[in-house]
Amino acid sequence: MNLNGPFPIYDMSINILATWEAHSLSNIGNNGSTITYGRKQVLHNGIVVDSCSGNIIKHFFFASVVNYLAAYGQPLCKPCASGDSQHFAGYLHYPLLQNEELDLSMNNILQKCASCDLCGFLITTKKKERRKKEVIIDEENIDEFTFRQGVSKDSLIRISNVLALPNKQFETPQFLTRRGDETGNGQIPMTVNVRSGMYAYMIRYLAYGVGADIKFRKLYIKDEEERLKRHVAALNTLRDIIITPVGAMTARMSPHLTALKGVIFIVPKVGSAPTMSGLDENFIERSQRMTSDNLFVYTFDSVDSFYSLMNEIIKYSYPAKPAGE
Ligand SMILES: [Zn+2]
Repeated sequence: MNLNGPFPIYDMSINILATWEAHSLSNIGNNGSTITYGRKQVLHNGIVVDSCSGNIIKHFFFASVVNYLAAYGQPLCKPCASGDSQHFAGYLHYPLLQNEELDLSMNNILQKCASCDLCGFLITTKKKERRKKEVIIDEENIDEFTFRQGVSKDSLIRISNVLALPNKQFETPQFLTRRGDETGNGQIPMTVNVRSGMYAYMIRYLAYGVGADIKFRKLYIKDEEERLKRHVAALNTLRDIIITPVGAMTARMSPHLTALKGVIFIVPKVGSAPTMSGLDENFIERSQRMTSDNLFVYTFDSVDSFYSLMNEIIKYSYPAKPAGE
């Protein structure tokens, strides 16, 4: 596949080994004291490594992608537009206007919100409560007792935990101060464990699911231009959150990104993009040996080569359709 002409993406993965200096992107809180601890993860061999949760990156993906979607004129539901992480389910807690009805169909949600389309949403099934004991419940006619049918879509973005290479991780306690309480009790001293290291993580993007119910492989956004705008928003955001690492404490401790290398796998037709962890020091060489008619492998060895590669993918790719559509 050459990157000079349009090509489809069914599934893709970005497999990253990044060097971050002096960050505190993901923490496990303060343990009841004024010390903020870094997040740790035990590997299969018992070695403890520094870590950041994929969850926090996913949160920042959502916070960022809504900006691109708004800039491209894509619709956003009220909860997503206001940063409510419940996404469309946030409406369940909003008061409805008189005569307003909430359409919770998959079609309506995907048409009304491009962010719910990319980041997913979960509306649980809820049944009527049995108010009187003497009411006879006909279990075979359960629909009669259901007032909300659940509907959900998984996120099209899948992010692993970020794990430091065991022999490439360090930590420095830094003394900081935080603003005191409203009674003017001065500043609160804090110790934050600031970390540096080489970190491996993987991100998958299921492009075929743009505008679609991925569980039933049904496409609801039929207009290819609209799908393309959502796809480009997703890719731009993926590029951004890798180039500008996201997470906690970035207002005063944004990491230095000093090195970036890895591999991008693109699967153009039905299939899953492999993931390859940078915890294996030979992961790039191994990736290059993986060949298939339905797998394209692109490597990068610096921030600038990743940036340029992503921009080429953004320029020429379009989302494949779900199987059967
Ligand atoms: Zn939404």
